[in-house]
Amino acid sequence: MESEKMILINGHEFMFFPGETILQVAQRNEIDIPTLCFMKRATPTGACRMCLVEVEGARGLVASCAMPAAPKMVVRTETPRIGRARRLTLELLFSSGHHNCLVQEPLRDSQTDFQLRPITSKEREDLCPASGTCRLQELALRYRIGIDRFPPSDPGHPIENVNPFIVRDLSKCILCGRCVQACNEIQVNNAISYGYRGSGSKIVAKGDRALKDSDCVFCGECVQVCPVGALVTKQDMESRTQEEAATEMVRTTCSYCGVGCQLYLHVREDKIVKVTGVEEVGPNYGSLCVKGRFGYDFVHDSGRLKKPLIRENGKFREASWDEALNVVAGKLKSLKEAHGADAIGVLSSARITNEENYLAQKFARAAIGTNNIDHCARL
Ligand code: SF4
Ligand code: SF4
Ligand code: SF4
Repeated sequence: MESEKMILINGHEFMFFPGETILQVAQRNEIDIPTLCFMKRATPTGACRMCLVEVEGARGLVASCAMPAAPKMVVRTETPRIGRARRLTLELLFSSGHHNCLVQEPLRDSQTDFQLRPITSKEREDLCPASGTCRLQELALRYRIGIDRFPPSDPGHPIENVNPFIVRDLSKCILCGRCVQACNEIQVNNAISYGYRGSGSKIVAKGDRALKDSDCVFCGECVQVCPVGALVTKQDMESRTQEEAATEMVRTTCSYCGVGCQLYLHVREDKIVKVTGVEEVGPNYGSLCVKGRFGYDFVHDSGRLKKPLIRENGKFREASWDEALNVVAGKLKSLKEAHGADAIGVLSSARITNEENYLAQKFARAAIGTNNIDHCARL
């Protein structure tokens, strides 16, 4: 009975649950099968052909992301035949786009040399902004592909850089479809789809218009899932041309609304340069809205108050926190004594954390004694 639920991968037996694909069983058991188009939260499409595996009895290689596990199935995930197929796919992907991350240079002797070259290159500023984080580049290095088998055919799509959030360079697009699935299946915005046919195929928004003229709401989900440099946030693009510095990832909770989305702040030299959703945990599993993903410039706004101000004779002057708090406490006390607690109202902010808003209402209700507490999204 148990063998009815067992599958053999690379000579080892694994149990599978009804409906699980070969890839899911492999991932659950930490067997690495490379993928480009697969996304946990979307329907598998088998579009990229990177997850091909050998299944005994099958005529050709099969896409493990779309093939359900079956009892007593015998699977191999790394063989010379699979390696050749994956290399062919990668070489074709490279030849059909404009990939300027130096992966095009002959690199078969030393991967370390190759990886150091973009850092020291004079042309660094022209490098693809995804270099170093690109999944296609990573697989090209891993499978040590050659670049001379197929003549390059750059589709020549112009870079779209006409909105404040997202830069689209579709000449680097590998048509994996992740952005389309992220937009349509996960965020259900239905703003982008496949357009045109054959070698002219392209991801389009509203009949091939700029994102800003489409139904796009700039949630940035497509950018987060794009495995290459075809979709990049504008802020990320700009920050990469600056002096290279370590980027620290700080996990936090979005402060815009009560959903509590989990996000990473990418911090370089004390500045937030990018925000991404945390994919492994709820409530958002990587998704964010336009505010959570792009609305962080207020943190570094030059007009932001850093010291308390006290108004005297119609003019503000800087004060210490002790002095300012004493003034506020004294005025609240005298107002309450003269007119009662309900003469006072407390306005909190949507741009502070839920915990801070909780404390503000506690202060209004418990310390002052009024229910006049609200928050204002524009504060
Ligand atoms: S998209 Fe990836 S492979 Fe293409 S140029 Fe950029 S880093 Fe290189
Ligand atoms: S930003 Fe959001 S709405 Fe716009 S195309 Fe990307 S996923 Fe769709
Ligand atoms: S834009 Fe990125 S995510 Fe979308 S199809 Fe192209 S490579 Fe895939």
